Amino acid sequence: MSTFQAPKGTYDLIPPDSAKFLAVREAISAPLKSSGYGYIETPGFEDVELFARGVGESTDIVTKEMYAFETKGGDRLALRPEGTASVLRAALEANLHRLGNLPVKLWYSGSYYRYERPQKGRYRHFSQVGAEAIGAEDPALDAELIILADQAYRSLGLSRFRILLNSLGDKECRPVYRDALQDFLRGLDLDEDTRRRIEINPLRVLDDKRPEVQKQLVGAPMLRDYLCDACKAYHEEVRVLLTAAGVAFEDDEKLVRGLDYYTRTTFEFVHDGLGSQSAVGGGGRYDGLSEMIGGPALPSVGWALGVDRTVLALEAEGIELELPATTSVFAVPLGEEARRVLFALVTELRRAGVATDFSYGGKGLKGAMKSANRSGARYTLVAGERDLAEGVVQLKDMESGEQSPVALTAVLDELRARLA
Ligand code: AMP
Repeated sequence: MSTFQAPKGTYDLIPPDSAKFLAVREAISAPLKSSGYGYIETPGFEDVELFARGVGESTDIVTKEMYAFETKGGDRLALRPEGTASVLRAALEANLHRLGNLPVKLWYSGSYYRYERPQKGRYRHFSQVGAEAIGAEDPALDAELIILADQAYRSLGLSRFRILLNSLGDKECRPVYRDALQDFLRGLDLDEDTRRRIEINPLRVLDDKRPEVQKQLVGAPMLRDYLCDACKAYHEEVRVLLTAAGVAFEDDEKLVRGLDYYTRTTFEFVHDGLGSQSAVGGGGRYDGLSEMIGGPALPSVGWALGVDRTVLALEAEGIELELPATTSVFAVPLGEEARRVLFALVTELRRAGVATDFSYGGKGLKGAMKSANRSGARYTLVAGERDLAEGVVQLKDMESGEQSPVALTAVLDELRARLA
C-alpha cells in the first residue's frame, strides 16, 4: 500500500482547522447576504470554450493552468479555474438578466482548479467566495463590492491588508493606449516569450516582475494619460464613494490582473504578511465579458476572495477566531441499560437543538471521560444503574467540576437554562 497522500498542490481540510475555513467562508458571505446578493452554485466543470473565450486565450490561466480534458462522450471540458465566466453563463442561461431587475446580484463559494507551481498560498485546488453584480454600469456598484470585501476582512479581525485600485479604461480608450504601449514595448530588448506577449496582451508586460524588464519600462506610456473622459469620471466617482465610506485604497497604475475580461475598475486586496503570494482577493468590472461569451451587452462587476489565503492571513496576524465549541453536552453511560436510556436522551437533546455527543464503543468511565474532555463539551451527563433506579442522571459542569443529580425528565430544561 502506498502512502496516503493528497495529490500534489492540494491539501485536506481536517478538524479542528477546517472549522476556520467554514468560519472564513461564512464571514465573507455574510455581508453579501445582507446586501441583496443571492446564492448561486454552478458545476465544477464547464465547456472548455467558455473559459477560453471568457478568461482569455492569451492568459496563463487558459494556456498553462487549465485542467482540460475530453470526456468519454467526446465533450471538451475543463475544471473551472475561476468563477465569473460560469456565473455569467448560468445567469444568461436562466435569463436572470431579462427578469427586469438589474443588476442581478449573486454570490458563490466553491473549489477552483489551476495547474500552477505549488508553493505556500498557491495550490492546484483552492477555495474562493465570490460575488458578481450583473447588468448595471454604476460606480456605486463597484464601490459596494469593494466596501463589502473590506467589511468581510475586517469582521475577521484582519487589518494588515491594502486595497490596490486602478482603471483599465474601456473599449474606446484602451485600444488607443494599447497601440501606444505596443509601439513603446516593441522598441525594448526583450526575450522571445515577452515579445509574443506584446502582441497578444501588452498590458501584462507591465506586470513583469523581472528587474531587467522593469528597468526598461521606465517611461512607458501610462493608461492614466489615455483614459477617456467617461472612464476618468467613472473612476473618480468610485474613488469618492470609497473615501466617503472610510475605505482606504492605493492607486496602482500597474494593476492589470491576470484575466483578460476586465474593463474600467480593477482592484486587488493584498496582505502584507503573506510573502510572494500576497493577493488575498481581487476583482473588477467586466463590461465586455457577456458579449465575449455570446450574450447581450451586460456591464458587470465582481470579485473573488481566496479562502485559503485569507486563513493564512489570519495566521500571519496571529488572529484566533472565536469558534464556539461544537459539542455542548457529552453523555457517558455506565452499563447496558444506561446506554439505551442515555442514547434516547441524547436524541431528545439533539432534536431540541442542544449540540450533544455520546460515548460510543463501550468505553469504561475513565476512557469515556477523556472523550468528554476532548469534545470540548461544557457539560457531561453520566448515568449508571443506581442513577437510573432513582430516575436521575449526574450532570457535571466540566469547567467547575461540580456534579449534581438531575431528574431525567428535567435534564432538557436544566441544560437549556444553563446553556442560555
Ligand atoms: P483570481 O481569480 O486570480 O483573481 O484570484 C482571486 C483570489 O483567489 C486570489 O487573490 C487568491 O486569494 C485566490 N487564488 C487564486 N489562485 C490561487 C491558487 N492557485 N491558490 C490559492 N489561492 C488562489
